[in-house]
Amino acid sequence: MATLVHVSSPVKNPSHRRVFDIEYAEAELPNGLKIVGMQLEKAGPERIIMIQSPRTSPRSEYMQQENLRVQQSPTLKEKFPKLKMLTVELSHYDPTGVSRSSQVKQTVNVAFAKSVFRVACHNQECVRGDFDLSPKLGAAVAKKKPSIVGEMCCQGWRNRQTIDIEPCNNILRYKLTLGY
Ligand SMILES: [Zn+2]
Repeated sequence: MATLVHVSSPVKNPSHRRVFDIEYAEAELPNGLKIVGMQLEKAGPERIIMIQSPRTSPRSEYMQQENLRVQQSPTLKEKFPKLKMLTVELSHYDPTGVSRSSQVKQTVNVAFAKSVFRVACHNQECVRGDFDLSPKLGAAVAKKKPSIVGEMCCQGWRNRQTIDIEPCNNILRYKLTLGY
């Protein structure tokens, strides 16, 4: 359970009091918060140090691991020297495939974009999901296809409370246009 702390301004006069408010939040804070050190001196100014805790959740742990995998991958240009141009059209849908939450079209800079090509799931609480278009992209480049169209279903969990119970199942519909 997260702790929210409010602290009044430091005391300058020892006869004054400094107020600490500590509250409990029902939900976990995104990055957590914890008091790492508190020093109280008699009749003197006290100090409190707060930092963002590196405490992890199943969601943030997975995201960190995947971000690392992306960062460590070669660029698209390095991995697929033949590929000169890539445009992606992405539409995000809920599990029913009817309600669309967003639609984007963008040209990817192959010299900078990483070859582990992930698209974040639009479920803000999704755990261990998202969409990895890398295998589709690799297969398309290998066959020099000018474009591919498809649909992927998020393999993550709906939220941290439903891990191993309720899958996320959000849908991504994509079109990749490739130039060589
Ligand atoms: Zn998801």
